[in-house]
Amino acid sequence: MKLVRHFKNFGWDDVAVLAYKEGGPYKGVTRQILFEGVEALPCQWRYFEVEPGGHSTLERHEHVHNVLILRGRGQCLVDHHIHDLAEHDLIHVPPLSWHQFRAAMDAPLGFLCLVSDERDRPQLPTDDDIAELSRDASIKEFIRP
Ligand code: MN
Repeated sequence: MKLVRHFKNFGWDDVAVLAYKEGGPYKGVTRQILFEGVEALPCQWRYFEVEPGGHSTLERHEHVHNVLILRGRGQCLVDHHIHDLAEHDLIHVPPLSWHQFRAAMDAPLGFLCLVSDERDRPQLPTDDDIAELSRDASIKEFIRP
């Protein structure tokens, strides 16, 4: 395993830039796997980058995320609250909380995201979930199901 990978322009030596995920509604998001889990530390550390005006998938799951904003600006929905995000902010996404990240229209949103190796598949919102989330007008305006 390579012990040091140097950083350049929000990429790292020999780290592939991948599609965010297979399928699912999202816009303009890439994924880089910075560290794969090892037995002594069974988690995956990723860098996602959302292009200006783009967004991640609105989803929830049992596993948690710990996120550090590394680049740019945007907003996130976490568990029925919308937050403005700036570089170096930290976000904790608890189990089964709806979450979605959006980049500003004039800036990307790049963030580190730590997840357990053992994790369940994300759930996408049903029409009922969308209706429930949309009872809050600001959430209705924010989400991109
Ligand atoms: Mn997620």
